[in-house]
Amino acid sequence: MKLVAILGGGPAGAFTAERLAAAGLSTVVFDEKLAWEKPCGGGLTYKAYHTYPFLLENSTPKKLVTETILSAPHAKAATLCLAEPLLIYSRKDLNRMMLERAERAGARIEKARVLDLERTASGWRLRTSGGTLDADFVVIATGARNSLREFGTQLTANDSMSAMGYYVAGDQPQIDIQFLPRLEGYIWVFPRCGHLSIGICGKGEPAASLRKRLENYMAQRGISWKGAAFYSHLLPSLEASAWKKNRVAGDGWLAVGDAAGLVDPITGEGIYYALRSADLAAKALLSELGGIADKLQTYRRLLRRDFAADLEFGSRLAKRVFLGRFLFGSVPARMVQFTRRSSRFRSLMQDLFAGTQPYLGLKERLLRNLNGSLYEIAMSLGFSRVLPGKARP
Ligand SMILES: Cc1cc2nc3c(=O)[nH]c(=O)nc-3n(C[C@H](O)[C@H](O)[C@H](O)COP(=O)(O)OP(=O)(O)OC[C@H]3O[C@@H](n4cnc5c(N)ncnc54)[C@H](O)[C@@H]3O)c2cc1C
Repeated sequence: MKLVAILGGGPAGAFTAERLAAAGLSTVVFDEKLAWEKPCGGGLTYKAYHTYPFLLENSTPKKLVTETILSAPHAKAATLCLAEPLLIYSRKDLNRMMLERAERAGARIEKARVLDLERTASGWRLRTSGGTLDADFVVIATGARNSLREFGTQLTANDSMSAMGYYVAGDQPQIDIQFLPRLEGYIWVFPRCGHLSIGICGKGEPAASLRKRLENYMAQRGISWKGAAFYSHLLPSLEASAWKKNRVAGDGWLAVGDAAGLVDPITGEGIYYALRSADLAAKALLSELGGIADKLQTYRRLLRRDFAADLEFGSRLAKRVFLGRFLFGSVPARMVQFTRRSSRFRSLMQDLFAGTQPYLGLKERLLRNLNGSLYEIAMSLGFSRVLPGKARP
């Protein structure tokens, strides 16, 4: 491979470029906007900055938040101290930092929109807003709104969430998470440097109705959105069946990040998976073994083994997490109540927020802890006198 063209300079594209350029491959990144405030909460879990410490160790402005308040209808709010803080960036800052790292590693960065791709005998001819370019291999990193329909995940309405919100002036020490009645999604308030990112994501509900829910919430909290910048975007949220046929690579190309649908279908976390898929893609492309078809097969295998199987399992849980019932109440309400009253459950929630509790294995942990959690809840509700000592788990 003489030249790799990377289409899209978000976290996925920039990190693929950094890895390939650092290994000596000629790499060019095309992004129509370069560093921009991509609609996003900007939250990174412990899993992300533990795997990629440069996310923490840099001079780019960012916030570390150690407290979350969880709320749901029919449940008093619960405060969750995060053993491992959440790291929050403005996306413009994060994207700029990633592009600069790619450039320092030797990648060429070009501000241009890729209009189409044509397969040639030796590779690809790219037509961009700046001209044409021949490349040997292309990496599709164009995000969830990928206009190059023949490449990357084929997102249907069932495989995505609407996500939108406001950037509002203000500050607060904690993150707020609000579950809502009959919504496969949630509202978040993330404090960033100099402003709050307040947003909502939801599956299967029209954007206008989600926006109404968000504005009702903001009105109840006394947060004005007058004059605040509004943002909206698609969030991949693949159904379990879509993971099976997910198109992450093909003849002469592979896709990373949102363009490959690689987002947690429950939390909407995508930045880590953008970086991780970029890392795995570079590993596969740089591997010494076999030809290009083998490298693409290696990429598929690495993705599956590393996190895609877990996210696929998460897709099976998503509806139950947001819309299910447990002990005569909604699952979100029970989650909030359990968080307030059981230290075992709190520690599970801390691990979920840190990104260190896989979905595969979650059910076993819940079942293992259920007795203990219920005991703690009964004690906190003042049932200590009616529970025999032997009932202690
Ligand atoms: C409202 C919202 C909130 C979110 N909050 C979080 C969060 O708090 N934490 C988290 O981990 N994830 C969050 N996500 C998900 C996260 O934003 C994405 O998973 C992440 O940005 C994916 O990175 P990417 O590089 O794959 O795509 P993107 O960041 O979307 O980057 C794609 C890039 O490609 C460029 N591009 C597209 N088409 C072309 C073209 N034809 N030619 C040239 N350039 C092109 C775009 O300009 C863009 O810069 C959120 C998503 C939404 C919508």
